[in-house]
Amino acid sequence: MNELPVVVVGAGPIGLAAAAELRERGSTPVVFERGQTAGAAVGEWNHVRLFSRWGELIAPAARRLLDTTGWTAPLEDSYPTGRDWAGDYLVPLAKALGDDIVRLGVEVTGITRRGRDRVVDAGREGEPFTVRVRHADGREERVLARAVIDASGTWGAPNPLGGDGLPALGEAAAAQAISRRVPDLDDEVVRARYAGAHTVIAGSGHSALTALVALAGLAEQAPGSRITWVLRRGEVGNTFGGGAADQLPARGALGLRAKKALEQGLLEVVTGFRTTAIESGGDGRVALISEAGARIEDVDQVVALTGFRPQLSWLSEIRLGLDPVLQAPVELAPLIDPNVHSCGTVYPHGVKELAHPEPGFYLAGMKSYGRAPTFLALTGYEQVRSIAAELAGDHESAARVELTLPETGVCGGAGVFDDPDTTDVSADGDCCGFPARQLIALGSVGGDD
Ligand SMILES: Cc1cc2nc3c(=O)[nH]c(=O)nc-3n(C[C@H](O)[C@H](O)[C@H](O)COP(=O)(O)OP(=O)(O)OC[C@H]3O[C@@H](n4cnc5c(N)ncnc54)[C@H](O)[C@@H]3O)c2cc1C
Repeated sequence: MNELPVVVVGAGPIGLAAAAELRERGSTPVVFERGQTAGAAVGEWNHVRLFSRWGELIAPAARRLLDTTGWTAPLEDSYPTGRDWAGDYLVPLAKALGDDIVRLGVEVTGITRRGRDRVVDAGREGEPFTVRVRHADGREERVLARAVIDASGTWGAPNPLGGDGLPALGEAAAAQAISRRVPDLDDEVVRARYAGAHTVIAGSGHSALTALVALAGLAEQAPGSRITWVLRRGEVGNTFGGGAADQLPARGALGLRAKKALEQGLLEVVTGFRTTAIESGGDGRVALISEAGARIEDVDQVVALTGFRPQLSWLSEIRLGLDPVLQAPVELAPLIDPNVHSCGTVYPHGVKELAHPEPGFYLAGMKSYGRAPTFLALTGYEQVRSIAAELAGDHESAARVELTLPETGVCGGAGVFDDPDTTDVSADGDCCGFPARQLIALGSVGGDD
C-alpha cells in the first residue's frame, strides 16, 4: 500500500501546503482541484484584502520549495488581496509542485475503502482508499490512495439567511436579490447593482464589515443609497472588534472604519433580527421577516455573509468522528467551539486532534473547523505539517506543535472573517484558562441572546 499516493482534495492554501509537506518527506501526493486554477476558491474573493500579512500566509514547506525556483517572495509586512494570495503565491506554488502532483479541473465526487462500504469491518484497514473523481470533460475515474487529506474548504457551502440554519421561507425564490459575496465595487456592473439601492447586509464577521465599509463609501457618492445592517445578536456590542488594540492591525482598522460609518449615519442597524422568511414583491424588491414578526421592507439587494458549513455528502462512506455541534473532528471541536471560546481564540493542533475512526483519513484547513468561524491559514499549515509527519512515520514530529501563534487577548476584539452570528459567552482576556502565549483572538463571536 505504501507505494500508493496520498490524495489531497483541493489546491487551496492548505491543500497545496499539504502537498509541499508530503513531497518534502518523500511521500507521493496527488492533489485534485475542481477549479481550472490553483486557489480557485480564493480567486472568487479576489478583491477582498486579507487581515493577515504576507508573512502569515506562506506555509514553511511551500516557501522552501518556492525558494528553489527563483520565486520573488512578497514583502512580509504587506497585506495581500485574495487576488494577490492566489496569483503571487498559490499559482507559483502549484507550478513548482508540477502537473503530476496538482491536477486541475478534477472534482472529487466520493471517497471510500476499496470494496468496503461504511458498514463493513472485515479487512477494512488493509484496503486502500478509493477516490472517485470526475474530469472536466465528464470522464469518471477511480484512484487508489494510501491516505486522504480533504482540504476542500467550505467556500462552496455558505450558510443560509434563515436564523434557524435552514433557508428562510422564500429564500430560494428570492435568489436574484441575494448575493453571498462581498461586493466588488470596482466592477461597474456590481457597482450599478448597489448604487442608489436599499441593501441589507447580514452577518457580523470580517466579510460583513468589509462589505459594510465598501457600501458605506458608495452611499456617500450615490444618492438614494440606503444600508440596513441586520444582526441576530441583541446588541452591536463588540462586533467592531479590538480597534487599535487588535494584534492583527488590519482587522482592527477595518472595525474602526465600520464603526465610523455607523456614527456618520451611513447605515441603520437592526439587532435581534432572526430572519425566518423573505417575501418577493412584484417589483423585484423583497421584504425580510423575523421570527418575532418584525419586517424590513423595500429591499433591493441582500448581501448575506453569514459564514459557511462543511460539505459532507461525498464522505458518506467514510467513518468520520465529528462533533455533533460543530461538525469538526471530535478532539478539535472543544478547542474551537465559539460557544465556549468567546474571544474567537484558536489553538495550534495536529494529527492527534484531527484523527477519525477511519485511519488514514483527515479533514484539514477550513473544512476541519466545521461550523466554527475562526480558522486561520497559519493553523492549517501546522495541521498539514503534522499530518505529513505522521504519514511519513515520524510520530514524534507529528505530536509536536511547531507553531507559535501571535500573543494576544483581544476578547471583545475584532470580528472573525465570516461570523455566523453565534452565541456569545462573555469572556475576559485569557480565554478559557489556556496560557496566553498559545492564543490568537480572532474576535467576538456573537452576543445574540
Ligand atoms: C473573505 C475571506 C477572507 C479571509 N481572510 C483570511 C485572513 O486574512 N487570514 C487567514 O489566515 N485566513 C483568512 N481566511 C480564512 C482561510 O484562511 C481561507 O478561507 C483559506 O482560503 C482556507 O484555505 P483552504 O485550503 O482550507 O480552503 P479553500 O481556499 O476554500 O480551498 C479549497 C479548494 O478545494 C477545491 N475543492 C472544493 N471541493 C472540491 C472537490 N470536491 N474536488 C476537488 N476540489 C475541490 C476548491 O475549488 C478550492 O480551490 C479568509 C477567508 C475568507 C472567505
